[in-house]
Amino acid sequence: MIYGVKDLRTEEIPKPEVGDGEVLVKVGAATTCGTDLKIFQRGYVEGVIKLPTVFGHEWAGDVVEVGKGVSWPEVDMRVRAGNSAPCLRCHMCRRGSFNMCEDMIWLWGAYAEYIKVPARMVLVNMQEVPKNVSYEEAAITEPLACVLRGAEKADIKLGDSVAIIGAGPIGLLHLLTAKKMGAEKVIMTDLVNERLEFARQLGADDVVNAGNEDPVKRTKELTQNYGADIVIEAIGQPSTWEQALRMVRKGGTVLEFGGCPPNTEIKVSTELLHYGDVTVIGAFHTTPAHFKKALNLIASGTINVKPLITRKMPLTRIKDAFETLVASKKDVKIAIIP
Ligand SMILES: [Zn+2]
Ligand SMILES: [Zn+2]
Repeated sequence: MIYGVKDLRTEEIPKPEVGDGEVLVKVGAATTCGTDLKIFQRGYVEGVIKLPTVFGHEWAGDVVEVGKGVSWPEVDMRVRAGNSAPCLRCHMCRRGSFNMCEDMIWLWGAYAEYIKVPARMVLVNMQEVPKNVSYEEAAITEPLACVLRGAEKADIKLGDSVAIIGAGPIGLLHLLTAKKMGAEKVIMTDLVNERLEFARQLGADDVVNAGNEDPVKRTKELTQNYGADIVIEAIGQPSTWEQALRMVRKGGTVLEFGGCPPNTEIKVSTELLHYGDVTVIGAFHTTPAHFKKALNLIASGTINVKPLITRKMPLTRIKDAFETLVASKKDVKIAIIP
């Protein structure tokens, strides 16, 4: 249960009771995520979570109970689900913008022994996890699904140069995805050398410590003074959102991916958009189709998410896990094992 800033407690709460259409899953593993860390450090992220509450949203496990009317999945099946399920009925869903559903349901409570999946989520966003995929790899389906949708929207093509600002879990998933989509060169910038070293091991062609050198200047140098074809911001700060605009080539695309604090704004040069023919796009969350695609890519080994899990810790040490993430320069994602 999370109560507030850095106030994370392990408590005994009743095992959820399964109603019609619902499914109870015994969690095999849950993975930590930047959003969870933000909530741990800030206590509250607008619109996302009300405290106190059960916590965590990336998970996979075994079905232990199914409610009335459930024809799939079966007990003992390994599954993952959520963290969202659109209604399929509202204006946005009918227009195909499932990530913008006006009646979206969200599921929290992955850092637990059991998690109950609502009926709608069982229908639209639960998948069977293939035997060759570990629980912790399957848990990473959620962030990968978000990244896939963003990368598709940015339309990364064979031979593109891609600059990624931020070598955290999301930046690293963008790196793995951009490489698979055919990026010729991926440049990563961050302030932490250990993270940049990790990015290099995962396939980054060039890394830039933005604390030591100007990432804009360096990105230009690495792209024959043009700027990158595609720039992806994966931090969520207005200053780096603006920096991304200075790193892109004329005619290129900027994907502003990281969620900034509420009520923030950025400045965009009209000349850059007009004479520079630059496309600036936003991206929020993802869709059930992308969840399925992400799990398939993990299962087939096309995108290897295993290296991102840098540590495993028992559920009883959940608070330590988040403190480790705050302090550590080397940890990317921690798998929490109940
Ligand atoms: Zn997440
Ligand atoms: Zn909807």
